[in-house]
Parts: sequence; structure tokens; C-alpha cells
Amino acid sequence: MRDPRYDILFEPVKIGPVTAHNRFYQVPHCNGLGHVYPKAEAAMRGMKAQGGWAVVSTQEVEIHPGSEWSPHIEGRLWDEGDMKRLQMTADAIHEHGALAAIEITHNGHASANLYSRLPAMGVSEMMIDSYQPAQAYAMSKRDIADVRRWHRKAALRSKQMGFDIVYVYAAHDLALPFHFISPQRNQRTDEYGGSLENRVRFLQELLEDTRDAVGDACGIALRFTVDQLIGERGMVAENEGREVVEMLAEYPDIWDVNISDWSNDSATSRFAEEGFQEKYTAFVNKLTTKPVVGVGRFTSPDAMVSQIKRGVLDMIGAARPSIADPFLPSKIESGQVKDIRECIGCNICVSGDMIIAPIRCTQNPTMGEEFRRGWHPEKIEKAASSDAVLIVGAGPSGLEAAMSLGRRGYNVTVAEANDHAGGRVHCESQLPGLSAWRRVVDYRLGQIDKLDNVQVFLHSALNKQQVLEFAKQLNIQHVVVATGSKWDRDGIGRVHRQPIPRDKGMHILTADDVMAGLRISGHIVVYDDDHYYMGSVIAESLVNAGAKVTLVTPAADVSVWTHNTLEQIHIEKRLGDLGISIVEKHKIQRVNNKQIILEHVVSAKNQTINAQHLVLVTARRPVSSLYFDLDNDADSLDHAGIKSVTRIGDCLAPSTIAAAVYHGHRFAREFDQPMNIDQVPFKREYVEI
Ligand code: ADP
Ligand code: SF4
Repeated sequence: MRDPRYDILFEPVKIGPVTAHNRFYQVPHCNGLGHVYPKAEAAMRGMKAQGGWAVVSTQEVEIHPGSEWSPHIEGRLWDEGDMKRLQMTADAIHEHGALAAIEITHNGHASANLYSRLPAMGVSEMMIDSYQPAQAYAMSKRDIADVRRWHRKAALRSKQMGFDIVYVYAAHDLALPFHFISPQRNQRTDEYGGSLENRVRFLQELLEDTRDAVGDACGIALRFTVDQLIGERGMVAENEGREVVEMLAEYPDIWDVNISDWSNDSATSRFAEEGFQEKYTAFVNKLTTKPVVGVGRFTSPDAMVSQIKRGVLDMIGAARPSIADPFLPSKIESGQVKDIRECIGCNICVSGDMIIAPIRCTQNPTMGEEFRRGWHPEKIEKAASSDAVLIVGAGPSGLEAAMSLGRRGYNVTVAEANDHAGGRVHCESQLPGLSAWRRVVDYRLGQIDKLDNVQVFLHSALNKQQVLEFAKQLNIQHVVVATGSKWDRDGIGRVHRQPIPRDKGMHILTADDVMAGLRISGHIVVYDDDHYYMGSVIAESLVNAGAKVTLVTPAADVSVWTHNTLEQIHIEKRLGDLGISIVEKHKIQRVNNKQIILEHVVSAKNQTINAQHLVLVTARRPVSSLYFDLDNDADSLDHAGIKSVTRIGDCLAPSTIAAAVYHGHRFAREFDQPMNIDQVPFKREYVEI
């Protein structure tokens, strides 16, 4: 039963002519599915509606080929031909009683039109933001009228498809109406430039057009960035942000407010706490009688209630918490708060859009797999046999496999060498800024705790003989080796295919040693050929412990892959603030006693760093000896009654935590129906021909 303290979250909210059945609102978010994978898009949004979100939004939906995001995959509503695809999403959302919202948008000079090859246009003459060798031309009055007409048409088509809420998008410094407001962008001298009143005119017109076109049936949402966090160079909540809200206070039926850029709006847990947007957006609700929705990676119902009661927000907006747990609202409603799969704030979900691949999530392995694999985040097939499973290793892959097999009804025993479960997540969540990652372990242990058929044994390092004995003793038929990986000690990685040449004398460690608590001081070089977060958090933890640190990377940017999680600039800034020297585009040529000789990756010029220690963050090596010991001894397996030995997660191929969780989950789903590798293992979506 629902805790009465949370009743307020289940009150209906009127949004113009439509009513949301509770206060949970999935704000627009991209997912790498969009117009290319429309069935996957529909199934994924429908799952959120099923999970209790009263409003479920699309991602950005392009309204014209003159403003398109290719190769990135968003929604598309250029003409009637696109309606069938979007209609599926609206229908899937409606099937579960939620309101369907559509974020139609023109992105002005922010989009490069790489597919349509139409020249980009913007509020003023301007270079395309994304380092394309191209510029946008300044819109004429006729162009402004054209965009208004396209927007109106898209709104009418949205209404025709049954969407209940139609957006006017003016956020993130990505949307054309925001560019008009921005004095940095808007250099116009006509009635659309100059004073704030003039700069707001285009947005005001779009709001009026949209209301006129569809306001009888649809709620009009205005998504607006109140602060860009760049001071007077951009929108600031205390001055123009507030003035715009004052001017347009009653124009929309709901305000969807946030901060920008996207890396600030979707700040990771390493850089921002739950509710982090409140200090910027709280003023909006005081200036309008219309409901306000906002985000802040909300996963705690108490924090949500507090937002409502204090009048900060009327609806709890969420992108990432709804990805990590599409059933978050219904779990609160049914009193299962402890079962919420809380977002860890890692932005692996964002990386899907950035790398142009379907969405994935660290916490929710079913995300993006609703259509093509038919996975449901809360349902799983019953066991097909009474076979029992031994899982060696309680890292993310082992725990996910144990939990999911357990839910299916299989008897599962987990043996973990350490005195704690969690594997790499246990260790990494103790590094600076990563404590929220602990949720990956806590959620799974909490669920396993409820299953009588899953036992976890700590202090249980197993070798081949012990596995065989254990299997016989407990009548186990299947062994899963989830023993993870260790950081390489020779520096082998992307750049070095052979061990880095070295003299004795230099103290060389790996990220594992630092995480194990080995204390080192003096000048330490961290060599990062991994390029995700680890090099930077290891550097940060060494500085926190009093060392002087230089971070060397062969890439052009420190932690270069974190551009995909929107963290790169935040990481670089933090390392700078901590006094960490960064040497980019250099590899290690050799290591002498107290000296590290670096070589520029292009010019081959050398430089020398005097240091006491070198910490390597390069490749990881699977801990797979147990797997091979077992797999190579068919007779012993037979004798012990073991039918299968499988390695999963990092023990097979080291990757992200998300990949380990996914592999553990897929293993559990396919346990009694192993994938046929001669067939495509999921449903595909073909382009109509
Ligand atoms: P993954 O990401 O694939 O889940 P991790 O490295 O996070 O991998 O976790 C692997 C876990 O397996 C660690 O907790 C480690 O202590 C445990 N482990 C490794 N070898 C053994 C073994 N022989 N017996 C029991 N546990 C083991
Ligand atoms: Fe949250 Fe990470 Fe999942 Fe995104 S990928 S929803 S940030 S847990």
C-alpha cells in the first residue's frame, strides 16, 4: 500500500484542456531510436506509461529538413509520411492511460543538415556550433514566417496523431526561439532584435500560433532554459531568465524549466546532487498560475514531495530516473519504494545519442530492448527446468545474473572471494564523486535478499577443484564464471601493444592498487590509455591524499570518451582546479629510475617528467583462468554433473558496468534458450521499400 506521505504525488494536474492523472512527468529525452527505430521508440515510451508516468514525451522532433540532426537520430515530422511512425508512439503511450507529449522543434543554426544538405539558417549570420565547416545565414522576415508555418503544421499533425501536449521548445541553446532571445546569438536590428521584448517576440508568436492551431485540444508546453550557467555571457535566472518568465507567464499551459547547456541540465552524479536545479528554477512557480515541471535526477519520493510542498514544482520531471526505472511511479504508488532501481547519474544513457546507437542504461538492462528483444523491466519468463546454477563472482554481471535467474525461479548460489559483494562497483564507488554508483550493488543485493532461492557466500574464493566439489555437493548443473578483470600492469592498451619498456626502480602501480588503498605520495604520473572516467578519478583521489599528480594521455583531450557522457569539460575543469597537470597527445616511450620519458604521438618529440610513481590506467585483463581450467576439463565436468560453464561480464570482455549488467541479464533471459549465433538475435526494423 502507498505511504500516505506520498499521496500528493498522485494528485491529478490540469494542463490546459488535458489532465495528467498524477504528478510524474517524463520530460523529452533522446534515445538514439527515433525515426530510424520507430517500433523500438514506441515500445520504450509505452513502457514508461505502463510504469505510471502520467505524461510521456517524445524526444526532439524535427519539423523541417532545413533543421535536422543527422547522423544523430531524433524524431522526425517533416511531412505526412512521418506520421505513421510517430503515431505508434502516441498510441503506445495512450494504451496505458498516459498523456502523450511531443517536442516539435526547429534548431536554427545548431543543426548542420548533413543529410538534407539544405543550408542552415539562424537568428543571425553565424557559424554552425558543431565544428562543421559551414555557416548559417541570417533569417529574413520571410524565413521567420516559414518557420512559424512549419511549426503550426507540425502542431496540427501532432494533434491529428492524438498527442495531448504540444511543445514549444526554447531551451538548451539548441532551439531557434532560444537563439532569438539570446543577446549573444541575436544581432538583429529589426523588431526581432535589440530589446528583450523584441528578442522574445518570435517565441511569443510560436506560442500564440500553437495555441491558435491546437490549443482547443492540446496542452501547450513551453520548455525554457532559465540559466545557462555562464554568467552574463548567457541567460541568467536573476535577470533575463526571470524577465522572460514574467513576460510569458500565462502563455503556455505548463512551464517545463531547466538549465543549460545539456551537460549542466543532465549533470552526472559526479558533479551534481539530486535536486540540483532548484536554486535556478524555483522562482518560476511564483510568477505563473500555470503548473511547472522541472528535473533534478529525482529518485527519492521524499525529495519529490518536498519539491511539491514547497511550491518549487507542480510536476516531477524525469528523463534519467524514468530510464533507470520506468516503473518508478507505480512502485511508489504500491508502497515498493525500496524496489526502485535508482538512477546512478552516470549518463551512459546519454552516450547512446552521442555515439548514434540505441539507448542503454547501467541500471536498467531492458532499456531500449522492449521491442527488439521483448524485454520487460519488471517481468521475466519462469524457469524452464529445475537445474541449479553456481555463479562465481558477485560483481555487477554476477549479481544481475543471480537476481534475474532467481526471479525466474532457478536455485542460484553465488560465491564471492571478497568480504563484500559488488566487484568493481564496490571499489569504484569509493572513489571521489562516484558514491551513487553503489546503487548498482545495493539494488541487486536488496532484491536478492527477498529471494529464498538465491544464496550469496562471501569469503569464498573458488578454484577448479572447489567448483567441482561444490557442484557435486549442491547438485549444481551450471557454472557461471563472473570473475571480472584486473587493470594491466604492463601498460598494454590502445597505444602500447607491447609492455612499456622500463628500468627497475620506478614504482609502477595500477588503478587496482590505488583502489585497494595503497598509499603513495610525491610526484605521481597517471597514464590514461583507457580514456573513460577512471584515469581522472584516480588522479583526483591521489591529489586528495596529498600527492602531486600529472595526468598523461595519448588522446587530444583528457578522458576523451566522456564527451559522450557530457562530463569531459567538467572533468577537465575539476582536474585543473585540483592543480593536476594534464599532458595530452603523449604516450610513454620508456620508464627509467624516477624518470618517465614521454613521446608526442604525432611529432615523436620527447619530454621527461621526474616522478616517484607511475599509475597505469590502460587495458584490463579478464580474470579467466578459472573458466579455462573448467572448460578444458570435460571429463571432470561430466563427472561432477556440470552441463555448462559460461563466462560473463568483464571475465569475457572488459567493458562498462552497463555492459556487465546487460550481459548478466541477457545470460539469465537466455539461460534455457541459448542464443543461436547463426541467427540475428533480435527483431529488426527494416526501412520500407
Ligand atoms: P563484472 O563487471 O564482470 O561483474 P567485477 O570485476 O566487477 O566483474 O567482479 C568480479 C568479482 O568476482 C569480484 O568481486 C571478485 O572478487 C570475484 N572473483 C574473482 N575471482 C573469483 C574466484 N575465483 N572465486 C570467487 N570470486 C571471485
Ligand atoms: Fe541513470 Fe546511468 Fe541509467 Fe542514465 S544510464 S538512466 S544516468 S543509471
